[in-house]
Amino acid sequence: MEKKTVSLVIPMYYEEKVVEECYTRVKNNLEKLENYDYEIIFVNDGSTDKTLELLEEIAQKDQHIKVISFSRNFGHQAAVTAGLQYVTGNAIIIMDADLQDPPELIPDMLKLWEEGNEVIYGKRKSRDGESAFKLFTAKMFYKTLNALSDVEIPKDTGDFRLVDRKVVDTINTLPEHNKFLRGLFSWVGYKQAPFEYERKERFAGETKYPLKKMLKLASDGIISFSTKPLKLVGALGIISIIISIVLLIYALISYIFKLNNLSAGWTSIIVAITFFSGIQLMSIWIIAEYVGRIYDETKQRPQYIVDKKINL
Ligand code: UDP
Ligand code: MG
Repeated sequence: MEKKTVSLVIPMYYEEKVVEECYTRVKNNLEKLENYDYEIIFVNDGSTDKTLELLEEIAQKDQHIKVISFSRNFGHQAAVTAGLQYVTGNAIIIMDADLQDPPELIPDMLKLWEEGNEVIYGKRKSRDGESAFKLFTAKMFYKTLNALSDVEIPKDTGDFRLVDRKVVDTINTLPEHNKFLRGLFSWVGYKQAPFEYERKERFAGETKYPLKKMLKLASDGIISFSTKPLKLVGALGIISIIISIVLLIYALISYIFKLNNLSAGWTSIIVAITFFSGIQLMSIWIIAEYVGRIYDETKQRPQYIVDKKINL
């Protein structure tokens, strides 16, 4: 019987401190699998430190290792998207480079796959070495996302998962930019199964997800899975109209019965103007987030540019 192949996709952004350890630990775990062949696709997401150099050295010695290198930083989601385009395996595993997702779990994931599950997603039972701030914001984010979105996106999950070839083929047909992959993996359906694990501390180096990138990912998640924020704009409009009618009645009454002097009117005007322009600007901002993404789609630029490929 022909052996099945497991493909790993591992994105790397300034991970020079992690490359060697990641390669050895992942490889050791894959070598132990007797019934599977394997390949590992490392995607260098535009790092200019030693990451690419180290990956090149590894790929020269080891034909299992394939490398895609971007012309610049296109982001974690784009890096995983690129990896998925090149995988040849029957089962595909997406993993972070920093070993927060333990490669020791691969056999358990494969078992769930052999049992017929098609998307096996890691669910974090605990998270070591992550700030209270990150844990709190992550929790709030998944709450908001699920309140807004029609697709159920499991909380406490990241991109660590094993997916069947079939699912990857489906994902590869989706041309959208600003992808939120963990949402898309839910959205496509198929047979889904969670598996719980303890998320470890980063092996070395710093997080490559500063607040700015987290906010971008969060807004991509919400905007690509919900149009409810647009309806919120309508609701805000109605609320402001109601408030303004109340103010109008109040103003008329005080005018007729001369309840107010002129200087008190000044305060209410300022408050009303700033409040309503605040609501308007916020509404425009919400719409702009959608328009910006529509603009990204219409330009039809590629989601990433590959500068170099090794063993591919
Ligand atoms: N990453 C990437 N491009 C980026 C940011 C991150 O390819 O622009 C990779 C990074 O190298 C790592 C994974 O995405 O393999 C997750 O990043 P990180 O571990 O820093 O995120 P955290 O675990 O802190 O949320
Ligand atoms: Mg990490």
